[in-house]
Amino acid sequence: MIQNIEPKTYVNHYDPEKKPSDAAFVIFFDNRKIFCKTGMGTLRFPTYGALEDKSGLFVYLFSIDGDEFYLALEKQGVAKAPPAWEGWDLAPLFSLQRLQPKHLAYAALEASTLGAWYTGNRYCGRCGHEMVHSDTERALRCPDCGNLLYPKICPVAIVGVRNGDKLLLTKYKGRPQVPFYALIAGFAEVGESIEDTVRREVMEETGVHVKNLHFYKSQPWALSDSLLMGFFCDLDGDEAPHADQTELSVAEWVDRKDIPNRDDGFSLTSEMIEYFRVNGKGEY
Ligand SMILES: [Zn+2]
Repeated sequence: MIQNIEPKTYVNHYDPEKKPSDAAFVIFFDNRKIFCKTGMGTLRFPTYGALEDKSGLFVYLFSIDGDEFYLALEKQGVAKAPPAWEGWDLAPLFSLQRLQPKHLAYAALEASTLGAWYTGNRYCGRCGHEMVHSDTERALRCPDCGNLLYPKICPVAIVGVRNGDKLLLTKYKGRPQVPFYALIAGFAEVGESIEDTVRREVMEETGVHVKNLHFYKSQPWALSDSLLMGFFCDLDGDEAPHADQTELSVAEWVDRKDIPNRDDGFSLTSEMIEYFRVNGKGEY
């Protein structure tokens, strides 16, 4: 999966005192675009030492092994414009996901989530005052009314429903460019456990009941500011699934031997489908 960057380690301990060295990577961004140089399947970020203009705020984000990453802000809540370097550009995030080295692609995703959060919360939503950075944790604080904001992470359930040697696979409506199977997925709503999300989403999208929920793995998913939580479970009863017409075009049982091998080494969904294809109900 994208976050698996072993043997490197992602360390996000908050340290507002950290200052960039010349070798530190600087993330310039604009909405969900990241300033970088790409070519031959590789990705590069500017280093602090290479910048002519060092004005503004450089907010420490995280480290991956020895590499430190800083977000370039003109001031609190405002992205700093990138330098005009030949061959460098603001590239859409989705175009960077599979570039090498993998840890830089992963850093781009996580930095963009934090960048969007910092610039999307320049002002307090309660009183309109300008927010300030917390001294003690990754948070924005309103000095006027005390409002405290943490980075947005939306929990999502990804569900593999088993029926013996079959897995309930779906295809999304209106996405002909994605011909591959997916799993049932949906955001947690206020007031429900993630297990309740699993049961509700499966029922809403396909009309079947499930039992024997087992947590599989989770995955941070920067493109939707989410934390995906993968579950396997078993069909409870014998209803035939039907695709919710507003979201899905297909919801059907697919036998293990008929599941295409499409693990992309990238997404939790593809890993779960591949896990079932290889192991069936398996043990974990
Ligand atoms: Zn306020």
